[in-house]
This record gives sequence, structure tokens and C-alpha cells, in this order.
Amino acid sequence: MNPFASSDTLATNPTLAVLGFKRQLVYHLHFWSFIAVAPLVMVQWNHDNYLLSALLILFCINALLVIALLRFRNVYFLKGRLFPLLAVICAAYSTTINGHAGLYWAYPAATALFFLLPLREAAVCNILFVTVMAVVSFLQFPEADFWRITFSLGLTCLFAMIFAWLVGRLHEELTRLATTDPLTGCLNRSQLADILNGQIQMRERYERVSSLILLDLDYFKTINDQWGHLAGDTVLTELSVRMRRRLRESDQLFRIGGEEFMLVLPETRQRDADTLAQELLTCISARPFLDDISVTASASVAEVVKGETWSVWLNRADQALYLAKSRGRNQVVSAPRTLDVSARRDDDNTAMVADSGH
Ligand code: GH3
Ligand code: MG
Ligand code: MG
Repeated sequence: MNPFASSDTLATNPTLAVLGFKRQLVYHLHFWSFIAVAPLVMVQWNHDNYLLSALLILFCINALLVIALLRFRNVYFLKGRLFPLLAVICAAYSTTINGHAGLYWAYPAATALFFLLPLREAAVCNILFVTVMAVVSFLQFPEADFWRITFSLGLTCLFAMIFAWLVGRLHEELTRLATTDPLTGCLNRSQLADILNGQIQMRERYERVSSLILLDLDYFKTINDQWGHLAGDTVLTELSVRMRRRLRESDQLFRIGGEEFMLVLPETRQRDADTLAQELLTCISARPFLDDISVTASASVAEVVKGETWSVWLNRADQALYLAKSRGRNQVVSAPRTLDVSARRDDDNTAMVADSGH
């Protein structure tokens, strides 16, 4: 059970889900290390190893702080960097004064590095750690042991690194799969609320304006009926390529329905978004898809208004799109600055998203 996010949030936001798993990992590593290391404080104290005892106390305090701040403040104390640092110092120092009894702790310490630090940082730290441990074991143990320790610790680090690297790639791939549409590669609805909310906050705090465009292909059902579903799919894919070519790096392209797209345009006023929407419609209708399928689209444009929620912003654009359709299609309509509460689209699915409580 993740102590940091509700299962509802995890189900709807893949980025939060990945962050939630990372936090869980950090939380468990600190918790179980605390349980394992706390009794050693007394053991080392009783053996008159006061410096090591003090280092272990620091380690335990850090673990408790990380757990508490993560749990109650949602803050990752010093990004978890003290854990690896103290673990490595304690293991090396304990091996120096306690021999094999200290050495055993080097293995979990080396593994933990890969789960707490970014991969590159962990790899560099571990190379340093294995080198230090090699020097300590060269001075402490017979030569045969020195080789055994260096190679077994090195191999443990290598295995942990490969595992952490693969888990990192798996996270990236899962996030990509959960946030993009497989046909067109556009973003899907999963992050729609977060991204629109981000733009709204930029408007509220820094007076930065952004706009959104809704774009829906005209009579797309007829294209499917006439040319087949596969041809329809190709049209959608090529459409997203054409649009992306025209967009800026900072613009974000969503596929929010079958043949309905949404563009979020940071730092763009209504007038400029209007021009862009017009250009997109021209670039769709000017050249046929698959050599002879002529397609047109309708679009609406809405600049974010101070004080409105993302769902009102999206609904304003949706109402304007409905107007573009009813006025004959293949045109852009600018959304008014207020939502017409009396208007309602029968085939409206945006309202459903808005009402779903995000
Ligand atoms: P309008 O001009 O009013 O938008 O008419 P339309 O035909 O484009 O809109 P309608 O909502 O009636 O139909 C949308 C069609 O889009 C129906 C569905 O078959 C098609 N569609 C939805 N998703 C996909 C997809 O992934 N691939 C293909 N090929 N077609 C799809
Ligand atoms: Mg359509
Ligand atoms: Mg549609």
C-alpha cells in the first residue's frame, strides 16, 4: 500500500504513480535500514567504538527525518543523499576497526545506492566505494581475501546497477505507454488536467497567457465508411505529423477523442492562436491524405481567463467547436471569454471529463 497517494490518483495520473513508487522505495529503504542499524548503535557503544556509534546515530536520525518529512510534509529531505554517504562511511570505517563484521554491511550499502541516487551518481559513488573498500581490505585482510572482497563487492554493484538501469527504463516506458496514444504518439487524456492546471497557475501567478485549440476532423465517419478503417487510421497518424511540424517545442498536442485533438499553446494570445488554428486547417485541407483523401477540420480557440478552472476553459473551447461545426465546418471559431451555461452539446464528452471531479 502506498502511503503517499490514493489509489484513485495513481490510477489517473501515471507521473504521480511513478513518483509514488519511487517514494515508496525510499520510504521502505530508510525504514528497514533504521530497524537494522538502530541496535548496532548500542553494540558499538558497548565495544567502546564511540565514533562509529555516533556515525550510526546520525544515520538513524537521518532515516527518521526522511521518513517523517516524506510522510507528513511530502518533502524528500536532502534528496536522500545523506543515506548513501553515511552508509558508505560507516561500512568502510566499521571494516577498518571491526574487520569482517563491518565488511558484511558494505553489500547492502552498495545496493541501496542504486535505489536512492540517480543512476550516474550511484555508479560514480560505487566506484569510489569499491576502491575505498579495496584499500581497506588490502590493509586489513590477507591478499586472497582482498581479491575475493573486491570482486564480490564489484560484482554486487554491477548487478545492482544493471537492475536499477532496467527498472528506470521500465518506468520510462510504462509512463510513455500510459501517457501517449499508441496510434498517433500524441499525449492522451491522462495528463490533460495537470497540464491545463499548470497553464492556469502561470496565468494566476505570473500573468502569463496561454491558449488552447480544439480541432476535430469533419465527417470523419464518412472517410472510414468510404476508405476503410485502416485508411482512417493513416489519416489520423499523418494529421498528427503535419500538426507537429507546425508546432513549437513547448506546445503540447493531445488526442482527446477518436478524431478530436487539443493543442495547448503556452505564451500564446488568442489572436496568435487563431492564426495558428487557421494555418493548421489550411495545412490539413490543402493537400489530400494518402494521395486522394481530402479532409477538412473545424477548430476552436480559447485563451485562458483569469480565475477560471481548467474544465470551464475546456468547455468554452468545446462550445466554440460546436459552433464551428454548426456554422458549416472547415472554419475556426474563437471562444467568448465566458461560458454559455445554457448551451449544451448532445455528443459532448468534454463535459463528462469536467464533471468527473479532476
Ligand atoms: P463531425 O464533422 O460532426 O465531427 O462528424 P464526424 O463523422 O467526424 O464525427 P462523428 O463523431 O460522427 O464520428 C467520428 C468517427 O471517428 C467515428 C469513428 O468511427 C471514427 N474514429 C474514432 N476513432 C477512430 C480511430 O482510432 N481510427 C479510425 N479510423 N476512426 C476512428
Ligand atoms: Mg469529427
Ligand atoms: Mg469528434
